[in-house]
Amino acid sequence: MKLLSIIVPCYNEEENIRCFYDEFMKNRDFLAENSLDYELFYVDDGSQDKTAANVRALRAEDPKVHLILFSRNFGKEAAIYAGLSAAKGDYVAVMDADLQDPPSLLPEMYGYLQQGYDQTATRRVTRKGEPPIRSFFARCFYRLINHFSKTEIMDGARDFRLMTRPVVDAILSVSEYNRFSKGIFSWVGFQTKWIEFENVERAHGETKWSFWGLFLYAMDGIVAFSTAPLSIAAVTGLLFCVLAFVMILFVFIRALLFGDPTQGWPSLVCIILLVSGVQLLCIGVVGQYLAKTYLEVKKRPLYIIKEEE
Ligand code: UDP
Ligand code: MG
Repeated sequence: MKLLSIIVPCYNEEENIRCFYDEFMKNRDFLAENSLDYELFYVDDGSQDKTAANVRALRAEDPKVHLILFSRNFGKEAAIYAGLSAAKGDYVAVMDADLQDPPSLLPEMYGYLQQGYDQTATRRVTRKGEPPIRSFFARCFYRLINHFSKTEIMDGARDFRLMTRPVVDAILSVSEYNRFSKGIFSWVGFQTKWIEFENVERAHGETKWSFWGLFLYAMDGIVAFSTAPLSIAAVTGLLFCVLAFVMILFVFIRALLFGDPTQGWPSLVCIILLVSGVQLLCIGVVGQYLAKTYLEVKKRPLYIIKEEE
């Protein structure tokens, strides 16, 4: 018998715990037909509501349900890593608790693994129910990061995927602190089958992502998977040097030929403001990488587990 592990990161998802379980259990026949056993890991990412209590209640009914409780909120990426570390399955799936990753897709995804693919990944083709401005910025982000980074990051890709053991081990071997899962999943390679589905709206509760939160996440993603911004900063610096050199020659020669009538205060102010702005921007870019390096060298654990059962 093969084992299928399901990892569900949860942050304040009390209403979704049981819904998710019921929905997953609709695959009972599929599991039996393929002689698959299952284990379900709910990773409670420091919820303040009854998430952990609800998981325990479920565990009392079905011992194949497990709880990993974090000591505080460490973020979804850490929760995924904790789940992947705990999972013993030959096949492992990562799924959201809010049913935006429909468990009904699992049989189809499993089918592709039987055909020889190493992992089946999902992407949503519509963004129905999402504010248009958010969709617009999301599209911009994907265009930008794919331009900057050699690692391909699929537009609309979800973290929902079903992986074989070698893929899971590869992902676990990437132990960096600044985790951008979408990038890591792609970076490890392997034969990936993409399947598409229409966006499903959240079953209960609200999304944990604010616009600002998403913006910072996007920045983290770019910094984690590309050093192009550093090169851009360097090239901009070089361009400004060349420009300054030409200007110096021009001003010098003009002063020699026509004297210096002490004009040009406005242009001087403009130049100073522009150049110092560009300098600050470039220092900021370097600072981003330095900050990430700092966090990385501290080698702090990705998460702290308070309880595990
Ligand atoms: N999540 C988490 N930790 C966090 C934020 C979110 O474990 O700090 C979980 C959340 O409970 C859900 C999944 O990550 O199962 C996706 O979150 P959400 O639905 O808010 O994101 P969206 O689907 O809007 O991108
Ligand atoms: Mg969601």
